[in-house]
Amino acid sequence: MHILVTNDDGVFAPGIFALQKALHANFPDAQITIMAPMVNQSAVGHRKTLRDPLRIDQVKMVDGTLAHACSGSPADAVSLALMGYIEDKVDIVVSGVNQGGNMGQDVTYSGTVTAAMESVIFGVPAIAISYDSYTDQEFEAGADFAARLVPVVLDHGLPEYTLLNVNIPCRDEFKGVQVTRQGKRLYHDRLIVREDPQGTPYYWIGGDRPTGEVEEEGTDVWAVDKGYISITPIHLDLTNASFSPEVAGWDIQP
Ligand code: MN
Repeated sequence: MHILVTNDDGVFAPGIFALQKALHANFPDAQITIMAPMVNQSAVGHRKTLRDPLRIDQVKMVDGTLAHACSGSPADAVSLALMGYIEDKVDIVVSGVNQGGNMGQDVTYSGTVTAAMESVIFGVPAIAISYDSYTDQEFEAGADFAARLVPVVLDHGLPEYTLLNVNIPCRDEFKGVQVTRQGKRLYHDRLIVREDPQGTPYYWIGGDRPTGEVEEEGTDVWAVDKGYISITPIHLDLTNASFSPEVAGWDIQP
């Protein structure tokens, strides 16, 4: 078994360290390759670097474990690995453990989830795993759950263009696991205008951490809010099929 581990928080983030540690502990005979962006690339979306070269450095984690650090996006890291930079065939990609949940519309921004998307485009099953805290760094429970999920996913397989998006609540104990659908995130960003030393305005987009429609039962935000580990199967086909007949009925034929 050959597992590729990545993380959009960068190769030196504590979440990727916890993940590779748990995978090494659970699968001592497995080949585990670590490849992630050199610096934090959270919320860069599914970015593909086409107009710049990509560079890769060999680095060591705090315990001496070898890792590959690349200059591109999280999706670039997966792409580089699966296109041949890593010579051995990869059986599964695990992306995480991310600092902060990735639920609802987050999946379109998330480097954690888009790294997994890149993997399933290559036909390699993938799990994205995120810890629903922006400050607490107890990544072990998420890393252990990822280790539990890996052989099950390899055993059952995933449909094409499908990944599993896992969110771990920030709790000491979990109520269990819920298979969920994407819920609704509520963002609290504001446009903040400041001035540089020359008097030219510049802008920040930011604000309080996102919340969600936690009362909508069966969703990722609901499950995590209630203390369940959430698993959402995510498909890359974003078609709103129920709306297609209406669009087809519009007066738009040339
Ligand atoms: Mn991140």
